[in-house]
Amino acid sequence: MDRDQLRHRLLWRLEFYQDLGFKQIYVREPVAAVATPQPEPELASASVPPVEMAKLPDLPIPPLAPEGDNLLRILEDIGDCKRCRLHEKRNKIVFGVGNENAKLVFVGEGPGADEDAQGIPFVGRAGQLLTQMIEGTAKKEGIPLLRTDVYIANVVKCRPPENRTPEADEMEICGQFLFRQLSAIQPKAICALGSTAAKALLGGKDGVTRLRGRWHKWRDIPLIVTYHPSYLLRPYNQDAKREAWEDLKKVLHFVYD
Ligand code: URA
Repeated sequence: MDRDQLRHRLLWRLEFYQDLGFKQIYVREPVAAVATPQPEPELASASVPPVEMAKLPDLPIPPLAPEGDNLLRILEDIGDCKRCRLHEKRNKIVFGVGNENAKLVFVGEGPGADEDAQGIPFVGRAGQLLTQMIEGTAKKEGIPLLRTDVYIANVVKCRPPENRTPEADEMEICGQFLFRQLSAIQPKAICALGSTAAKALLGGKDGVTRLRGRWHKWRDIPLIVTYHPSYLLRPYNQDAKREAWEDLKKVLHFVYD
């Protein structure tokens, strides 16, 4: 990483802490160096210089979300966001929709054209399929559940141009707000829709085919990965559709039984 990239990342990190409500950043006192015990002179090897190790005190890691965080506060902190290039072409920020106390949260990739126009996630064709999947599967399984009972959000809150996949830095910047949303809601389970959501939440490189069919965790919350509804809309994906229904059944019974 060169100096400019480092400066940019540092600046972004400080702005992020400011958004979280930190008013001051303290610089830790320099720590007194503690000399490591040296071997007896006659045993010391002439070629190995003595090593001085600084003993760092065990400091608790500060929580990433401010105390008493809630969705309204996160929305206010996002404000008229210009933290990444995605703001340049967006119409509306697509924050998230649904029940603030939802037991189940669905996470997609990023808004498309319909979502960008309305400011609501999953309202286009993929969104209609997602609604059908949630409500239809729940009904078949005898679980009284509507789309409005769950919470739906995306990894990035502004539409990527031409619906491209969000870049790593866009996901990192916007992902912090998604993490705060998930921490504030504290659902019983999360369903990651597609590889981008899975990567943002699990941090690895694996795609849906490798990750689906078993439980994972985001922090301490059980998480299941399934296909993105846009993928299921493509023809010839019958197997994926069947698997997505299986995944959904699994997560619905886990949460609502
Ligand atoms: N695709 C997504 O990932 N999210 C939306 O909100 C709509 C389509």
